[in-house]
Amino acid sequence: MHRIVIVGGGAGGLELATRLGNKLGKAGRAHVTLVDRCAVHVWKPLLHEVAAGSLDTHAHEIAYAAHSHWNGFAFVHGEMTGLDRESRRVKIGPTFESEDRDAEVLPSRDLEYDTLVLALGSRTHFFGVPGAEEHAIALDTLEQAEHLRKRLLRVCLRKHAQGTGEADEAVDIAIIGGGATGVELAAELRRMEHTLKQFRLLSGSPRSAMRITLLERGDRVLPALPRRVSDTTRAILEKMSISVRVSTSVTSVRPDSVEVAGGAAIAADITIWAAGIKAPAVLASLEGLTVNHVNQVKVTRSLQSETDGNIFALGDCASCAWTADVLVPPRAQAAHQQAMFLCKALSARIEGRAVGAFTYKDHGSLVSLGSPTAVGSVAGITSTGKFFVEGFVAKLMYAALYRKHLMAVSGLRRTVFGIAAHGLGRLLAPRVKLH
Ligand SMILES: Cc1cc2nc3c(=O)[nH]c(=O)nc-3n(C[C@H](O)[C@H](O)[C@H](O)COP(=O)(O)OP(=O)(O)OC[C@H]3O[C@@H](n4cnc5c(N)ncnc54)[C@H](O)[C@@H]3O)c2cc1C
Repeated sequence: MHRIVIVGGGAGGLELATRLGNKLGKAGRAHVTLVDRCAVHVWKPLLHEVAAGSLDTHAHEIAYAAHSHWNGFAFVHGEMTGLDRESRRVKIGPTFESEDRDAEVLPSRDLEYDTLVLALGSRTHFFGVPGAEEHAIALDTLEQAEHLRKRLLRVCLRKHAQGTGEADEAVDIAIIGGGATGVELAAELRRMEHTLKQFRLLSGSPRSAMRITLLERGDRVLPALPRRVSDTTRAILEKMSISVRVSTSVTSVRPDSVEVAGGAAIAADITIWAAGIKAPAVLASLEGLTVNHVNQVKVTRSLQSETDGNIFALGDCASCAWTADVLVPPRAQAAHQQAMFLCKALSARIEGRAVGAFTYKDHGSLVSLGSPTAVGSVAGITSTGKFFVEGFVAKLMYAALYRKHLMAVSGLRRTVFGIAAHGLGRLLAPRVKLH
């Protein structure tokens, strides 16, 4: 049987494995295997909510082992460390009991494939800024989001215990990068502050317990989105007393401050790096595969590697042309569209038919600004092809994006029951996870 191996069970990889498992795996037309270094999937665009404690991960995790059993594919828990293209084998490193890599659970293994799909996503790009990697927290994984949440709680508790509620006892938070991740996190932290004050875990006058500064190198926040979205977002953030500093380049990060071009230092008990991405370094080490300057695998219009037709790549780790000089952006909607395309393309491939060409359709972008607000520009029927949305309607549309992902991987029944269970859970638990 044709062996399809998908490495990376994120926004794109999990959807592809689920679709292929149900279509080909259950019918015995192909053997589909998903490899991921984690045991559970959480949709990456939720990570800023995990970091701010507004989302309990347990309610949103999908366990790969069970999910694969229900959807006709196999799951291998492990990290891809290499590739032998000659013999078509993926190298999987040993699996350890914990992040500390002390107790080995499974040894290194090889996995044979006929078709390989690389869906490894991306990591934070620190651009070599001194101190950034050591002192700033990134938001790429569930562990990092949980680490940030716990650190925020610890710092808030310490300041609260020491403080008299004066502005000097405020927790200073610097967020580097005014893209969607930075903006959404800044807004979400205001929500966290409100709840911590409610439970007397944080003191200070309204708006002063957390002093949040958002730093952006470009001349506006959300530089990839239309100017109207940027301007509205900035106004909303400033109304939330979030200090927005554009045209500001960070030159170094220290344990308690951030230095910007010109030499000024901005106090920071916690620094979060949300500026720029690159694909995992392992991709640049795979012999014979061409990658670009940020390790993304260069693919053709059919999402096949430029140098190996048996290897496909999708999502953040793929460098795929959108127009002549613009690449498909690293977004969940792109990973979703590529998963849909590859489901059809790989079915055609195992039947010996042509795989076709992928076309990316930009359906617009929405940015969540805490509850109950979002803002964005979405595909519509205006003369420019996009219309501007704001407020509660935008928030509903934003929430629908995650439901759409759940529907694609878990189906209608599980999604509906999941929403109901989650809604009930919220009635019983505090709005912010406090432990
Ligand atoms: C806080 C935040 C908010 C965001 N908000 C939005 C948004 O609102 N809208 C939007 O469109 N996009 C958003 N994004 C971007 C979006 O999350 C990504 O574009 C999308 O998740 C990319 O999907 P992917 O399948 O390529 O990779 P991912 O979803 O990142 O999945 C990659 C998978 O590969 C696994 N993996 C990595 N390396 C290995 C290895 N060596 N071996 C085995 N497994 C491996 C990982 O464990 C992971 O499961 C946001 C991102 C962040 C961080």
